[in-house]
Amino acid sequence: MALKIWLDGKLVDQEEAKISVFDHGLLYGDGVFEGIRVYNGRVFELEAHIKRLYESAKVIRLVVPMSRSKLIGAVEKTVEANAVIDGYIRLVVTRGTGTLGLNPLICENSKLFIIADNIQLYPEELYEKGMKVVSATTVRNHPLAIPPQVKSLNYLNNILAKIEALDNDVPEAIMYNHEGYVAEATGDNVFIVRDGVIYTPPAEAGSLEGITRGIVIKLAKEEGLEVVEKNLTRFDLYICDEFFLTGTAAEVIGIVEIDGRVIGDGKPGPVTRLLRKKFFEYAHGKKL
Ligand code: PMP
Repeated sequence: MALKIWLDGKLVDQEEAKISVFDHGLLYGDGVFEGIRVYNGRVFELEAHIKRLYESAKVIRLVVPMSRSKLIGAVEKTVEANAVIDGYIRLVVTRGTGTLGLNPLICENSKLFIIADNIQLYPEELYEKGMKVVSATTVRNHPLAIPPQVKSLNYLNNILAKIEALDNDVPEAIMYNHEGYVAEATGDNVFIVRDGVIYTPPAEAGSLEGITRGIVIKLAKEEGLEVVEKNLTRFDLYICDEFFLTGTAAEVIGIVEIDGRVIGDGKPGPVTRLLRKKFFEYAHGKKL
């Protein structure tokens, strides 16, 4: 079915949703975006995603061409127009049409578009069995380059790490920062469990401040689990009892092997399974 896309302040048919080849989002990856879930017809954590979008835009000095309240309305209208009940939204703001030079200040109008569709990142079986990963040699962006907290359209750093994963016949790679500490996976945040305590790298280690990450920390604490944000090394990943990733698209997924080292007993562990269940319930509006 053809989708209705939000573009330039209105809903248009998918075939009409076109962007100039001179748009700097395309020419230079100059723009920001968000990936958002819809559960039970409700846009999940919309305010948090909108906040992060505006923050990302501010850092790259991009003006979002719409107020926050209008943008929230536009996202909801796009979901409604496509009758999305359980799905995925991509909200993108690009620098707009410019010239072949880098200069962003002469780009005409920043472009905003919204796609509401479906997503299945990994097959269900992978959630049951757990996923294998490798350590990427590609280092996560240095904080003095484009800050890793900015969800920019320039994902090449993570894409190179993803290629390393695929070259090794696994779906994901773990990225380290310039100091050798764990940053994140290519599109997800990292958690481990050791001796009953949950550890996750702080955002300063070079990760996006994941919205799923924040919710999972909250849910874990509600379950009486201790959560510690601290720098982690490759050693910590190799010897942990449990390992899982969180992200809007991936939700909560167990990792059972890294660089040929089996984690725990080779199956997603009890904390991972508990948090996956709690996250599912929370996302589907059962309770917090
Ligand atoms: N890190 C990166 C690089 C991401 O792109 C994402 C989002 N896919 C995440 C972490 C997870 O963030 P969130 O839970 O907000 O989706």
